[in-house]
Amino acid sequence: MTVHEYGLMEDIVGLATEEARRAGGTAVTRILLDVGELSFASKESLGSAFLALSPGTVLEGAEIVMTVVMARLRCSACGFQGSVRDAGLEESAGFSPWLCPSCGSPLTALEGGGLVLREVVVSRPDPPP
Ligand SMILES: [Zn+2]
Repeated sequence: MTVHEYGLMEDIVGLATEEARRAGGTAVTRILLDVGELSFASKESLGSAFLALSPGTVLEGAEIVMTVVMARLRCSACGFQGSVRDAGLEESAGFSPWLCPSCGSPLTALEGGGLVLREVVVSRPDPPP
């Protein structure tokens, strides 16, 4: 697990906890998470971070379902749109600024930019035996 994924997952755990509280649930059974390509987070590391962060929270024992979302980049100056490959950028280029291959302006991510908490499935406690 890296510090990067740990920090990202801390935010997600915080959001999911709020969401569960708002829904009136006492436990979360499952969360659905979109993992944007440009978050540079690995599913494995996110999973480990979740296991490290969830005990003692309403998320303890919850299943985490992650979907990788490929990035789509857009240049607002010239209208270029494309994937990381289309833009001639590789993941090794690291974090932004991502520059437009045709005009050199900064690109913005239309999707796949980070982690998105899609859904939090909450459950009520089991009735006492
Ligand atoms: Zn451009």
